[in-house]
Amino acid sequence: MTIILTKKHRCTHSSTCVCTKGHLTEEAIFLVFNNLNWNPKSIASLSCACKWFDDLAKRVLWKEFCMTRAPKMMLDLQSSGIHSIDGNWRALGKLLIYCSGNKKDGLFTSTQIPGHFVYRTRFSRTSGNSFLLPNCRTDVLYMSDPCEHLDQGEEGDVGFFRGIFKSFGNSKVRKMLITRSAPFHPTEVCPYCKAKLWNMLAAKMVPLSSASCRLGAYEDCIEYYVCLNGHVLGICTLLPLSDSDEATEE
Ligand SMILES: [Zn+2]
Ligand SMILES: [Zn+2]
Repeated sequence: MTIILTKKHRCTHSSTCVCTKGHLTEEAIFLVFNNLNWNPKSIASLSCACKWFDDLAKRVLWKEFCMTRAPKMMLDLQSSGIHSIDGNWRALGKLLIYCSGNKKDGLFTSTQIPGHFVYRTRFSRTSGNSFLLPNCRTDVLYMSDPCEHLDQGEEGDVGFFRGIFKSFGNSKVRKMLITRSAPFHPTEVCPYCKAKLWNMLAAKMVPLSSASCRLGAYEDCIEYYVCLNGHVLGICTLLPLSDSDEATEE
């Protein structure tokens, strides 16, 4: 890949990028990245360097990346029609592999925890159910296990979790957020698609006991936000491991 892209594909500055097509065909790029197993870091870094590539990545490469990493989930998310992922495969790809952390004085708390890539995260529809009020449980929400940041919060161990709704535009949660005039976060936007974020806690739509049980977190230390496109991100304070848990780990 290095040879092809450095020798034939010369544009390196997005501001001066003039390539439209002709350096390499889309088919050739497809084959190269298939060979790289849709390496997300390569896709992301080349997208920064070339507009033409960025466009191709948004249309094709991120979709293939998502389909390869989480095939069952992607088939389910798409099964209600072409608009169910809102065309934003790049946002979804990033959601799969990036824990957004927390800016200083930004989202949720004043503790700064930088975002980072994660090797592999499990998303589950069963888990997602625990984050929906009982009367919204016909909605489909895929949620991750918490990414544990131990001893990094003011209160102790912090967990970040993230997720995505299927067909968010038609979901009960979205309807209810609108009916209840749920507030948006005043300053922060979705780290995956840059849309505004509804505050689920302020809308009293967090089922605290089932969510805390699923996360292993304190009931009064959970909050999460849903963006206009149905991406979810949240933070919680994790319960300390009990003596028995620690004993079994030794
Ligand atoms: Zn993390
Ligand atoms: Zn979003």
